[in-house]
Amino acid sequence: MAYSSTGRLPMETASKLGHLDVIGSEWVNSILDDFETNDLYDEKNFNNSIWESYNPEQAKPLRHIWVVDGSYVPVEENNKELAFVKTALMTIEQNKIEKIDKNFPHPLLMQDIMKDSASFHATVFPLKNIKSSKGNIYDTVRHVIFDSMKKAEDGLYFETLKWLSYKKWSDSNDHSPSFECPHCGEKIESGIPYNKDKDICPLCKKEVLLTDMLGFHLDMNEDNAPISVASSYMLVMEMIMLMTVIRLHWDNPDKNLVSDTLYIKDGPLTLNGQYSKLIPNIREFILFAKNNNRPIHIIGCEKSGRFFDYLSIVSRFVKNDNDIKYAVLNHGFIRKEVQRAPDHGNPYGLRTNWGEKVLVVVDENTHFVLNLTTGIYIPLEDFPKTTDVIGLERILSTIPSLISRKYEGALYPVELVNGIASMSNYPSAKILQAYVRDRLGNQ
Ligand SMILES: [Zn+2]
Repeated sequence: MAYSSTGRLPMETASKLGHLDVIGSEWVNSILDDFETNDLYDEKNFNNSIWESYNPEQAKPLRHIWVVDGSYVPVEENNKELAFVKTALMTIEQNKIEKIDKNFPHPLLMQDIMKDSASFHATVFPLKNIKSSKGNIYDTVRHVIFDSMKKAEDGLYFETLKWLSYKKWSDSNDHSPSFECPHCGEKIESGIPYNKDKDICPLCKKEVLLTDMLGFHLDMNEDNAPISVASSYMLVMEMIMLMTVIRLHWDNPDKNLVSDTLYIKDGPLTLNGQYSKLIPNIREFILFAKNNNRPIHIIGCEKSGRFFDYLSIVSRFVKNDNDIKYAVLNHGFIRKEVQRAPDHGNPYGLRTNWGEKVLVVVDENTHFVLNLTTGIYIPLEDFPKTTDVIGLERILSTIPSLISRKYEGALYPVELVNGIASMSNYPSAKILQAYVRDRLGNQ
C-alpha cells in the first residue's frame, strides 16, 4: 500500500513552523541558540553548594542488617487473569558481609550468609474473569488481603498492621485511621475501635475489615481489579514486613538491638494515594523512638528515577577525597532543582513520604539516592536540615562495607534480596502459568 502522509512527520511540522512569524522573535531565537549548546555537564548549571563531608571512621557501623524487597507478576490464561505477589525479608550480619569480595563472592561464604536468613510471603489475587464460589472479585480480593496478612508468619505481620493502626507503642488506645466503607462508600470517621480485627460499618451495618482501612477497594470494581492492586499490596507488605522486624526489636529485652540495626527497603520510603493513611503513624513512631534515645536507622535505596538521574549528573562535580560526600535535600531545593515545579504546589512529600532524600557520593564510581527518616515533617522549603535526619552518621559509616560492585548505586544486601524476591527467578513465571493451568483445569 502506498505511503500516505499523516501530517505528523517532524519534517512536515518543521516546514510549517517556518511560516510562523514567531521565528522572527529575538526571544525565540535566543532559546533556539541555547538549545543547540550541549552544556549538560557544565557545573555552572547546578547548585553544588549542598554537599557536606563525612569521615566514615567517625561512628561505629551498624551491626545487624535487615532488608526487604518484593515483586509481582500478572498471569493470563484463557482470558482469565490473576497476579502473584511475593515479598522477601532477609537478614545479614555486617561483619560477615564486610568479608565478602563483592566482585567475586566466595560460594561458601555466600551460603553462610544466606543460610536460614530469609523469610518469604506470597499470595495471589484474581484480576479478571475469575469466578469464586465465595463472592465477586471485589470481595474476594478484600478477603484475600485480610487472610494473607493474618495467616502469614502466624499473624506477625497482621499484628504489625494493628500496631501501626492503633499506635500500640503508646498507651493511647487509639482507633484506626478513618476510611471509606467498602460497601456503602461513606467515610467511617471513627475508624475501627482499638485492637479489633474487624468491625461493623456504623452506617450500613455490614462487616468491614481492618485491611479495608488501607483502601485497596478504592482501586477496584465488582468484577475486575487492576494490576495496581498487586503492586500496591507488594509496597504495603514491604513496609509492614520491615516494620515487623522493627516492632519485634523494639520489644526485645536487649534494648540496644533496635538502634544497632540497619533496616533497608529497596525503593523510596513512600506510599501514594489512599495507601498513605499510615504515614503519620509511622512518622510518629520513628519520632517517639528518637525521643526515647533509641533511634531507628532506616533507609530506602532508589536505583532509578528522577533523583537518581539528577545524582548521576551532579556526582561528577563532587570533589573526591577519603571522606564521604552527602547532601540532605530540602523541599525547596527538590522543587527548584530536581522537580523544577512552581511554588504553589503541595509541600513536597507531605502526605506520602516517611523518608527524606539524601544523596551520597562515596567515590567517583559510587553514589546512592537514599531515603532517610526524620520522624517529624515540617511543611517548609528549608526542611529537612542535616540535623533533622535520624541516624545519619552511623548509616554513612555502614554504607562503605555494603557497596555492590555489580550495579551502579546499589547496596549489596539489596542485590541479594532482589535475587530471592524476584518472581522471574523463583518461582518462574512459566511455573506460575503451569500452576494456573492445572488449577483452572481442575475446576
Ligand atoms: Zn458502610
